[in-house]
Amino acid sequence: MAEFANRAKSEFLASMSHELRTPMNAILGYAQLLLQNKKEQLSERQTKQVNQILKSGHHLLKLINDILDLSRIESGNISLEYDDIDPDLIIDESIGLLQSLAERYEIKIHHVKNKSALPKFQADPTRVKQALLNLLSNSIKYNRPGGSITVTCRDIPPSELEITVEDTGIGISDDRKAEIFEPFTRLGVEQSGIEGTGIGLTITKQLVELMGGRIGFDSEINQGSRFWFALPLQHDNQQKGEFGNSDVDYADGTPDHFKSGKFVILYVEDDESNLNLFEEVISHYPNLELLTARNAETGLEIARDKVPDLIMMDISLPGMNGYDALNWLKNDDRTKSIPIIALSAAALKLDVDRGIEAGFHEYLTKPFEIKDVLNTIERTLKNDPQQKSTKNLAE
Ligand code: ADP
Repeated sequence: MAEFANRAKSEFLASMSHELRTPMNAILGYAQLLLQNKKEQLSERQTKQVNQILKSGHHLLKLINDILDLSRIESGNISLEYDDIDPDLIIDESIGLLQSLAERYEIKIHHVKNKSALPKFQADPTRVKQALLNLLSNSIKYNRPGGSITVTCRDIPPSELEITVEDTGIGISDDRKAEIFEPFTRLGVEQSGIEGTGIGLTITKQLVELMGGRIGFDSEINQGSRFWFALPLQHDNQQKGEFGNSDVDYADGTPDHFKSGKFVILYVEDDESNLNLFEEVISHYPNLELLTARNAETGLEIARDKVPDLIMMDISLPGMNGYDALNWLKNDDRTKSIPIIALSAAALKLDVDRGIEAGFHEYLTKPFEIKDVLNTIERTLKNDPQQKSTKNLAE
């Protein structure tokens, strides 16, 4: 019964996340469009207001993601992929990811390396990084301007490796220390304007313990805090996993604006606000022509008839769903070489993996960043000379 209840809870949370992400996509998308519209520029006051919408929207999105993550960990619904990890390397990578945040807060991060190289340890690299990023970002956020952070690592013989993040920040008062790993506790920093959800440390503790480790801290108010976690060097039942391959790696910056050639994109989407948003986005690029369909059946007809250069496909559609539509398209000579990108609010890693395995060229999740969608479209259109020539043949 407990297992059944757990499954029901995860399914509920996955669909809740889906339902929340769809409208968030329109909220964040339109806010971005307002800011980017060069023809009708916003006043300074309006820009501030729209930025507030974006800020709160991203906060809400982080909450959705964190709650989902936490409940999946609690219900044992995450699978860990163990691999050998070089501690110094993963620390450097994590620091690298937070360098711009540290600069914004005027904080220096020092990674103090040991003279002799540390042994590798066996854990899930993605999850270790998640734990490390959380401790590091806290030590930046709850620091003071001009403050510093020291990251160290040591092996604790015979079988553990410990990573420590020490800051010169605001510290934690003795009477609040017991609450620190509880979900949604922010210990009074809510009013300070420092962003956070109060779930990060709860997730970090769960993850570390799931990998067989321990976590702890000591802290002195107005002096600073020292958070550490220790993980076993060896993992039993080791499964080899891949590091980072599953994460979609988006190019940064604005795309080259599809300068050469004219391209036709078909977008199959039943949600009107998302459809309108996408139309708006594409309308800024004269080289892109957008065809739309409100369901997969119409989408298939248009695809066979017009042979677009690219198809963007929502997954959850009335009638035939995105996966079935993908199958039809891939089994039809006229459409089989068209790259099809999934654009879905089903945003778990599981969903993305399933989508890629099924044959989607890429899998984007809602709410999307406009820049990411444009980059993906551009990359797909550029990378597919094969597709262009097939289309010419078909014509
Ligand atoms: P968030 O940072 O999103 O609020 P966390 O779960 O990561 O949530 O942390 C919970 C609370 O613990 C924070 O709101 C903050 O009050 C306190 N905290 C965490 N790390 C530190 C730190 N390095 N220094 C001071 N306080 C901290």
